[in-house]
Amino acid sequence: MSWESELKGSLKKRGQLPKDFLLTPDEEAWFTHSGRTDGVPFSVTPLFFSRAAGGGKDPVRRQFIPTIAEFDKKPYETADPLWEASFSPVPRLIHRYRNRVLVLVTDQCAVYCRHCFRRHFSGKASGILSPEETEKIALYIQDHEEVREIILSGGDPLLLSDSRLSELLKKLLPGREVLFRLATRTPVVLPERINENFIAAVAPFPNLVVVTQFNHPREIGRENRRALNMLIDNGIPVLNQTVLLKGINDDADILEELFTRLTFLKVHPYYLFQGDLAEGTAHFRTTIDDGLSLMRTLKERLSGLSLPVYALDLPGGGGKVRLDDTSIKRREKGGCILEDGTGKEYWYPD
Ligand SMILES: *Cc1c(COP(=O)(O)O)cnc(C)c1O
Ligand code: SF4
Repeated sequence: MSWESELKGSLKKRGQLPKDFLLTPDEEAWFTHSGRTDGVPFSVTPLFFSRAAGGGKDPVRRQFIPTIAEFDKKPYETADPLWEASFSPVPRLIHRYRNRVLVLVTDQCAVYCRHCFRRHFSGKASGILSPEETEKIALYIQDHEEVREIILSGGDPLLLSDSRLSELLKKLLPGREVLFRLATRTPVVLPERINENFIAAVAPFPNLVVVTQFNHPREIGRENRRALNMLIDNGIPVLNQTVLLKGINDDADILEELFTRLTFLKVHPYYLFQGDLAEGTAHFRTTIDDGLSLMRTLKERLSGLSLPVYALDLPGGGGKVRLDDTSIKRREKGGCILEDGTGKEYWYPD
């Protein structure tokens, strides 16, 4: 089946769930809540749906079936926890780090992750970059010679057709060598997306890597292995960013298995992210202490090749910092104080 028809077969409504797929009261309550239209939409591909084997606590199911907990907004949570708007010199371009920019290519995703941190944008119908927006972004990149890397993100940039994607890459390419990073969850949730046509579309851009998001070993099946092998066999490196999710993968055995299997597939576990303070995601967040303790265990068990960097994107635009046993400077107001590279302080809840 083509990826387009697999995507069209996605479940988007409560009524499309199979009769024997019983919702828990907390899940049911999301589907009947009037505020759901302001939140991240519900959509799941048939393949990712099939990976959910159990009830309300199932680690895959919890990533795509919303619950009423998404309406529980903590005072310290915000719609744009990383202050991306303040690092956006041109609409839909984020320039926070000197040598790399991030482009919000589309707001659409194949599956809407319930833990999504860019929830003010994902699935909000802003659509694909317009030709005018693309033009402005391309000019900005051309003018900023310090930019050596262009990250295509969103949303999921691989929801663009192959022709639109290669057209976009061509337009963004400045007259100097840059690296393209495609940040996409399609190898996990829509592996059919990785096909011969895609490989041909990106072949003219040899400086290209794919960064994906596997969060649980159960997400790696035959279809996913095929997609990853195809990328790697065609010279496209694949890296993985895992989001640390309470009750889903905050367990040393699960992460050990996930990172080991990814390494066997030649996918490098790049980051393990501490949860961002995005509205309605508290039920997914562990504490930093929990994450540090997991990392200590993983360090004893895993090859250095399989051990990701444990990191947090500091709330309030501080950027990404690595978390280790020296990161917490002190405790304050039910949370901990962390520092960015310049010594500026940031608070994160315990
Ligand atoms: C995460 C991120 C990057 C990439 O950071 P790396 O540490 O290179 O992975 C770039 N720009 C923005 C805005 C980001 O959020
Ligand atoms: S694929 Fe990425 S942008 Fe889309 S919902 Fe998941 S985390 Fe958010």
